[in-house]
Amino acid sequence: MLIASWMNHSLLLTRARIATCAGPDDGDPTTRLGLVDDGAILVRDGRVTWVGPRAEAPSGADEIIDLEGRAVLPGLVDPHTHLLFAGSRIEEMARRRAGVDYQTIAAEGGGIASTMRATRAAGAEELLTRGARRLRALRRHGVTCVEVKSGYGGDVASELRLLVLAQRLDALGIARVSPTLLGAHALPAEYEGRREAFVDAVVDEMIPAAVGFASAADVYCDEGAFTLAETRRILRAAQGAGLDVRAHVGQFADLGGPELLAELGALSADHLEQASTRGLQAMGRAGVRAVLLPGAWRTLGQAPPEAERLRRAGVRMAVGTDLNPGTSPTSDLPLCAALAVRDAGLTLEEALLAITREAAKAIGRADAGRIEAGLPADLAVYDEEDPRALAYALGDVLAHGVWLGGKRVVERGASARIW
Ligand SMILES: [Zn+2]
Repeated sequence: MLIASWMNHSLLLTRARIATCAGPDDGDPTTRLGLVDDGAILVRDGRVTWVGPRAEAPSGADEIIDLEGRAVLPGLVDPHTHLLFAGSRIEEMARRRAGVDYQTIAAEGGGIASTMRATRAAGAEELLTRGARRLRALRRHGVTCVEVKSGYGGDVASELRLLVLAQRLDALGIARVSPTLLGAHALPAEYEGRREAFVDAVVDEMIPAAVGFASAADVYCDEGAFTLAETRRILRAAQGAGLDVRAHVGQFADLGGPELLAELGALSADHLEQASTRGLQAMGRAGVRAVLLPGAWRTLGQAPPEAERLRRAGVRMAVGTDLNPGTSPTSDLPLCAALAVRDAGLTLEEALLAITREAAKAIGRADAGRIEAGLPADLAVYDEEDPRALAYALGDVLAHGVWLGGKRVVERGASARIW
C-alpha cells in the first residue's frame, strides 16, 4: 500500500491507556494484552519507534498529542470478510423470517447464487465504490487491516477481477487489505451436474491466475458446498502455488475440515459451530487459529462453538465480522467481539486479542495487530479509558482517532466517554 511516510516527522501520543497486544506469547490473555496504564507511543516515519510508560518517554518529538487518558489499541484486524459484492439480500431475509426455508430460496436461484449474479453484472467502479464504503465503515470502529475474499465471481475472469479490485482497495489507503481467493464458494449455475469440471477449473486455472493477487486461498467446505476431498485437492494445489490456506469448515456439518486444516498447517479454520473435539485438538497441536463469526451464528440462529472447548484444545481464537450480504451484514467488529463474549464465552481480554493480535496471526500478517517498536503505526484511539469497553459495549464503539502508517485517517470532534 502506498501511504506517505512522514519523513523526518516524529509524533508522541501521550497520557494513554495502551493495550499493546504485544505481551509474551506464552503468557495468559491479560499478560499478552500488554497493558500500559499511563503510557506514550513515539511514531517516526510512519512506524512505532518506542512504546512504554509516559514517565520514560523520549523527549524532543516534533508533535505531541495529549490523549487525556483515552484507550489506545493497535488498529483492529478483521480476519474474515466478503465485502466485494453487489445486490441486496434484504428481501431474502424478509422471506426467511416469514417462514420460507433456505432450500426453497436457493432452488429459486437465491442465496449465494443471487449475489454472484448481481456481482458479475456490476461494473468494476461500482464494486470498488461499494467496497470502499464498507472499508470506511469498518474503519470507523478502529479497523485498519481487513481480509477480503473473492468468491462472488465463479469463473476465472470474474474471480480475478475481484482480486484486482481488492488490491485497488488496498491502494486507496483506507485500510490495509489482505486478498484471499475463495474460488470454491458455491458451484456456479453453469457447472450444475459438473462438479469435477469446476474443481478442475479452480485448480488448473483460478489458482495459477490468482498468484500475485491473493496471499491465501479459501474453500467453503460444508454440506451443500464443497466436500472434504475437493477441499483437500484445492488447498494442496494452492499450497503448491505458494499461497497460504484456510477454509470455512463445520458451519452446518462436520466433514473433518479441522483435521484437514491441521494436516495442511493452515492459517485458520473459520466458523467451527459443528467441529468435533478431535478436530479442535488437531488444530491446537498444529497451531491453526479458530476464526469465530458471531454475525453468522446470530443470523442463522445457531449455537456457537464454545470457548472453553477451544481453550482446552489449545486453540487460539480470532473473531471476524464475516461481512457478507446473506448471513452477516455488519461492519461492527467490536460488536462481534462483544457477542463472542456473550455467546461463546470468551473473556474480555481474549476478545480484545481476537480482533487484534490473534486476528493478524489468522491472516498471516506479522505487521499488524500489535503496538511494538518497528511495526507500522496503525493505531486506534477510543474515548473510553478502559480498553475492555470494546468487548463490553454491545455496539456503539467508534474510534475517536485512527492512524494508518503514522497518518491520521479518522478524526472525530469533541466526544466523551460513554461506558
Ligand atoms: Zn465467510
